Amino acid sequence: MTLQFWSQYIITIFTEGAIFGIAALGLNLIWGWAGDFDLAFYGYVALGAYMTIVLTVGQPIAPAQYIFGLQLPYPLAMLGATLAAAVMGLVVGLIALRNLRGIYFSIVTLGAVYVLYVLASQYVPLFDGYNGVFGLINPMADVLGISFNDYPAFFMVFCLVIFAGIVLILVRLSGSKFGLALRSLREDERAAAAFGRNIYMLKLKAYVLGAAIGGLAGSLFAAYVTAFNPSAWSPIEAIVLYSAILVGGKGNIRGVIFGVVIIFMVVQESTRFLPDIPGHPSVIPSLRLITIGLVLVLFLFFRPQGLFPERRYHYHLPHVQPEPETAPPAATEAAATVAVPDVATTAPAMAPAAVPAVVANAAPIESPPDILVLEGLSKHFGGVAAVDGCSFRVPKGTVTGLIGPNGAGKSTAIDLISGFKRSDTGTVTFEGTEIQNLPPHEISRLGLIRTFQTPREWPGLTVLENILLAKFEPDQETLLRSMLGPGIGHHSVAEADLARARAIIEEFGLTKLANELAGNLSGGQKRLVEFARIRMAEPKLIILDEPMGGVNPVLGERMARAIEAFVASGTTVIVVEHNLPFIERVAHQVVVMAQGAVIAAGPFESLRSNQSVIDAYLGDEVTV
Ligand code: ADP
Ligand code: MG
Repeated sequence: MTLQFWSQYIITIFTEGAIFGIAALGLNLIWGWAGDFDLAFYGYVALGAYMTIVLTVGQPIAPAQYIFGLQLPYPLAMLGATLAAAVMGLVVGLIALRNLRGIYFSIVTLGAVYVLYVLASQYVPLFDGYNGVFGLINPMADVLGISFNDYPAFFMVFCLVIFAGIVLILVRLSGSKFGLALRSLREDERAAAAFGRNIYMLKLKAYVLGAAIGGLAGSLFAAYVTAFNPSAWSPIEAIVLYSAILVGGKGNIRGVIFGVVIIFMVVQESTRFLPDIPGHPSVIPSLRLITIGLVLVLFLFFRPQGLFPERRYHYHLPHVQPEPETAPPAATEAAATVAVPDVATTAPAMAPAAVPAVVANAAPIESPPDILVLEGLSKHFGGVAAVDGCSFRVPKGTVTGLIGPNGAGKSTAIDLISGFKRSDTGTVTFEGTEIQNLPPHEISRLGLIRTFQTPREWPGLTVLENILLAKFEPDQETLLRSMLGPGIGHHSVAEADLARARAIIEEFGLTKLANELAGNLSGGQKRLVEFARIRMAEPKLIILDEPMGGVNPVLGERMARAIEAFVASGTTVIVVEHNLPFIERVAHQVVVMAQGAVIAAGPFESLRSNQSVIDAYLGDEVTV
């Protein structure tokens, strides 16, 4: 084979590699990071290709007609194609991302792409039906004075430059708080909302950006193949992109690039050299899909995580010592000097040994204002009144123990307070503002953070990443800032935040686990991570739902101390717990719920003789 053949061959490979690399990176944003298995994706590529041609080639010979039939310069058409894909992504995303997840999301996106496919192939006035659109030959060659022979090399460089630009943007995005937040949605949406993330908006932004990148790839593809019609694509092509991502490593940019190299360049090209089988023209193209399927199966069997695992923030031991000014304000000794509302008068049951410094330093103030007020809160599930006219108040700077038998409605009440469920009636007032109609992320942003009865860590993120993400910073997490902001990749999270996360890791004794995936921790360690996340978030009010469930006594002691440290720094705490000695120790007031309503409230001591409390607990494990 001649040198010319090889140079042409290399140009083909790199051009196609760059184009499909861009598409695969767009899909990786949607699936690898945000976790949405999107089947509409090839529709965005196709729309980008169609739009590019109808925006550049003018009208074809009658009776054929193109929807726009404009003759824009190619770069403008690229922009138009990218925007068109983004708009289609926005429409599909607005519908499919609202409430649908998993397979339901995939089915809706599959429906969406088939609508496009059928429209494009059947509705002639759009893209001329089965004939498709054609005639985009060597765009920009005239303007730039590039000869016919040099054009392929020029276009390869053009594609590679755009590819490099996309990689650069996505590397930034990957290491940014935005990128981390996206992954937290993939790992656990409810926890993400509990820490202030707007699930729908984040997912929508990622989806539209991914679709736009798909459209851009389509635009390049159109210029490369000069024509586009329904026989050139089908929604199934997305599967080839998925294979590339799976083989290379979901969520890893380098992995996706390698995946494209393997799937598109090696597998696809290897079948190109096979001799045609006379009389069976479809055998070789079919072999291509079969080979891809085979590679996929082998990978899923032997290396399911792909070639490269997702990149991580790393906790570097040499950099452990945080700067003094970035040390947590509420470290234990500092806590003693923080002004605290009068805990002594509201907490006759508190053992003096528990927080001696606080009690000693606290000046006797009149009863503190209420940070949270529940009035007549109700929630029915069908015939079950889970919460039924629940009312209580929580004074600022105190610990409230929320107790009651199983099924009393404690967890549901927490869901209502934190916006995870909508109440039927009643009001929740937080710092004087009614919050019962706000979504969870907005309540969280007001400074109210809750945990869940079963730990909700982000299992596929490291302990360090879990803690870093607990701090919601709106201006640091915008998409634009994350794409263009200073620093590349793993330096785009503020140093001060990293230092603070490290200090908290130390404080909670999680140093050895800092780089471990949170999903690999034991139940007790996950609880500690939850506490560490709360420390990072610095809320005004913390609601803990059975934090000591399944936790050993040593860890339990640590949690009791952590709660005391939170209170010492001025934070208010509500804690649901069945461990009554623990409640007696930490709580200033206790609220007892049974059958959805509050049956008693007051200092722990006052409840010992309360008959309704004893009745509610009768048969339960404890005599109060
Ligand atoms: P607790 O946390 O005090 O143990 P819950 O708030 O979990 O109690 O539950 C209160 C009652 O509401 C229980 O009878 C429970 O079965 C019911 N319940 C809770 N969540 C739901 C739901 N999503 N659908 C139907 N019933 C529910
Ligand atoms: Mg519960």
